[in-house]
Amino acid sequence: MNLVLLGAPGAGKGTQAEKIIEKWGLPHISTGDILRKAVAEGTELGLEAKKYMDAGELVPDDVVIGLAKERLAQPDTGVGFILDGFPRTVVQAEALDGALADLGKSIDAAVAIVVDPEVIVGRLTSRRTCKECAKITTVAAVGPDGTCPACGGEVYQRDDDNETTVRNRLDVYERSTAPLIDYYRSHGVLREIDGDRPVDEVFADVVAALEA
Ligand code: AMP
Repeated sequence: MNLVLLGAPGAGKGTQAEKIIEKWGLPHISTGDILRKAVAEGTELGLEAKKYMDAGELVPDDVVIGLAKERLAQPDTGVGFILDGFPRTVVQAEALDGALADLGKSIDAAVAIVVDPEVIVGRLTSRRTCKECAKITTVAAVGPDGTCPACGGEVYQRDDDNETTVRNRLDVYERSTAPLIDYYRSHGVLREIDGDRPVDEVFADVVAALEA
């Protein structure tokens, strides 16, 4: 199964991706994770990408298209994959379709998780991530000593989860990424899910949509 997860930043793509992976064992391809790793390692790519990421802007198409193609060419994607945070522009979606066609593949479903923007601002500014187990949690769930409720590791706030950057990321989403909803609808693979509900209810709808 070759999947694309669509939705504004903070809609719950990462959380639903984890559950899809648990159920179907697909490799998870997140261009945001690949870029954050490059930033942490201080590579040339990371230094270039960081300016865009810190401002909540998109990293240029040619950079992320190259990263995604490289990752999709790895053998573990033979069983399928779940793309999270890519594509984010129509140019990226067209490049993805072209690259997959060259491999004799195509996208089976684009799952769009829909959440009201004001709900997202609240979610993202309170989001915390564990440095040890990488689990996503909330400021309310971490202990008074700032530890992860799952493993006790230290948690941190992503550099781009402050309110100004979050609002810019939502504007960028509306402008550049929301058109992908129509793109995938016109390709007959769009599955829209109401994401403003508890995680397990959203996931039940994702499963139903993918098994339909
Ligand atoms: P994410 O973790 O998916 O929210 O991505 C974090 C940041 O990485 C985004 O705000 C962008 O700056 C950059 N990024 C990730 N994926 C892409 C993409 N497909 N196109 C452009 N920029 C991206």
